Amino acid sequence: MLIAITGTPGVGKSTVSNILSSRYRVININSYARENNLLEEFDTELESYNVDIDKLNDSLKSKIERSEIVFLDGHLSHFVNCDIVIVLRCNPNIIYERLKQRGYNLQKIRDNIQAEILDIILCESVNSGIVTSEINCTNLTPSEIVEIIEKIIRNPSLFPPGSVNWSNEIDKWF
Ligand code: ADP
Ligand code: MG
Repeated sequence: MLIAITGTPGVGKSTVSNILSSRYRVININSYARENNLLEEFDTELESYNVDIDKLNDSLKSKIERSEIVFLDGHLSHFVNCDIVIVLRCNPNIIYERLKQRGYNLQKIRDNIQAEILDIILCESVNSGIVTSEINCTNLTPSEIVEIIEKIIRNPSLFPPGSVNWSNEIDKWF
């Protein structure tokens, strides 16, 4: 079973994945793509490399047993052919602080905050047709998020999309 942990940069995907990695196999999409030569040209606007999703899918298919639970960590992981997509959500004000800490410039921070407010990754995930769950991580510890993820593995319909609405943040940011 392949489970995508996705969400806007800064929501806490890698923090949660780090805990999951003590119990399960976890693949970080960016590292995996780099190690397996799946990166395409550098996108100067996004300041990140594009990933060839078709090649990524083929590569993962050959390396993952369907009986094994494997998590994918990355903001592109919902584009992979997986069994469950889990979208982590976080209040834009917290994302702002975290991305500032990471050294992102203001434009890049605003682009990510806009994507979070507009539910971009959630919409992409739901549109993939793969069963999608959504967790509002704003007031949860990483361990609490992992507990919810383990509940979702047992019952993917427990945390359906629709629990998050950041639309009242638009006026503040834009
Ligand atoms: P992502 O992988 O989604 O970009 P990270 O996991 O790197 O996000 O988290 C960004 C920052 O937020 C890190 O400094 C991390 O310590 C902090 N963080 C992540 N999740 C939580 C949480 N649930 N509670 C408190 N801090 C968190
Ligand atoms: Mg990360």
